[in-house]
Amino acid sequence: MIRTDTAPIWHPYTQMKLADTPIKIAHAKAAVLFAADGKEYIDAISSWWVNIHGHAHPAIAHAIAEQAKTLEQVIFAGFTHEPAIRLATRLLDILPDKLTKIFYSDNGSTAVEVAIKMALQYWTNQGHDQKKRIIAFENAYHGDTFGAMSVGARSAFSAAFDSFLFQVDFIPAPDPMNMEAVKTRLVELVSTEQVAAFIFEPLVQGAGGMLMHQASLLDELIQIAQDHGVLCIADEVMTGFGRTGKYFATDHLVRKPDLLCMSKGITGGFMPLAVTACSQAIYDVFYADQMDKTFFHGHSYTANPLACAAANASMDLLLDPSCKQQLDGIMQSHEAFKATLAGNPHIKDCRQTGTILAIEIQTPESSSYFSSIRNHIYQFCLDRGVLLRPLGNTVYIMPPYCITKAELEKTYSVIQELIESLHAGS
Ligand code: PMP
Repeated sequence: MIRTDTAPIWHPYTQMKLADTPIKIAHAKAAVLFAADGKEYIDAISSWWVNIHGHAHPAIAHAIAEQAKTLEQVIFAGFTHEPAIRLATRLLDILPDKLTKIFYSDNGSTAVEVAIKMALQYWTNQGHDQKKRIIAFENAYHGDTFGAMSVGARSAFSAAFDSFLFQVDFIPAPDPMNMEAVKTRLVELVSTEQVAAFIFEPLVQGAGGMLMHQASLLDELIQIAQDHGVLCIADEVMTGFGRTGKYFATDHLVRKPDLLCMSKGITGGFMPLAVTACSQAIYDVFYADQMDKTFFHGHSYTANPLACAAANASMDLLLDPSCKQQLDGIMQSHEAFKATLAGNPHIKDCRQTGTILAIEIQTPESSSYFSSIRNHIYQFCLDRGVLLRPLGNTVYIMPPYCITKAELEKTYSVIQELIESLHAGS
């Protein structure tokens, strides 16, 4: 029997009619994917940003295997288990002190859904039924479910559903030029007393194009929102667990969010798991004798023990001092490569936050996810053994922390070659 992929399978974010046959990966180790046909690829985007310590890491694989022999899954209403308790306690140890409760779910979009629902019900539980509006950044991306789509930018991704999405007030992400105007608009919005929450991807807006803003500017916006009684939701689904050089992007801020969403790197990229952490003040508003104040939300696989075991093992690696050295090494390498691109007329912008380096390539068109250059860049790098999945004309590196110096150098040299080839072609 010939086993093909595309007969039974419909892939995510893929126009099945136009897409090439997917590459079959047989196994993976550290930062490298090994294809069934013998080719090798450096996973320079951490497999959609989830992998942090490398593929098939023996410590995480071992933790999952041991857990599977003991308890694979149990309903999380009315029951609990050690891996979930241990993980929640350890997460609170590294999260900002303001966050005191851990609510589990199973992917980034659901972590965001939970945060939005908690924020809205926080107000209705207190009888503030007018507080229903949400503020988000332009170009935001928070996931693909309806609530998460609603707080994200309207785009080709959401077009078929736009009329079903709830209204959100979008403000530009701050930069030194627009800051005064953004602050004025924010004050205007929060002064209506109708705003329940302000949601943002702190420091780096990922799917929107790896757009970056300064911590100090975001701090000022959080302060305005919180001073007007608006709950702040940090979506750290991408930025969490070391990506920005600290455990959380929020660690670069003075003002701390009231809710924080995590997923992706939480299990080291081994298992689907997500967390929405919230402040004691939020939890207390749900803690009541009346049943109708309950947070009626849960997923079948809430706090799956295998996923929690993977997350605990991943946390051991994250807290090990050698991980900090890996992060520092990547950041320094990125900085050095970025310096070599300075002044290059084919680069529109090159920006870095922690271990994330984004290079926006100059094209005759304006920057867009559907840039005609996108497929060329993707294939060019793949043909040279590096998996980079550009967001339109923005190519970015977001590697597993275990990536070697040689693998990083190869990734840079492929990007360098790409830029030179574009130059030759222009
Ligand atoms: N929030 C952010 C900031 C993300 O980058 C993503 C995924 N790229 C999500 C939420 C959604 O996560 P998931 O794909 O796990 O639903």
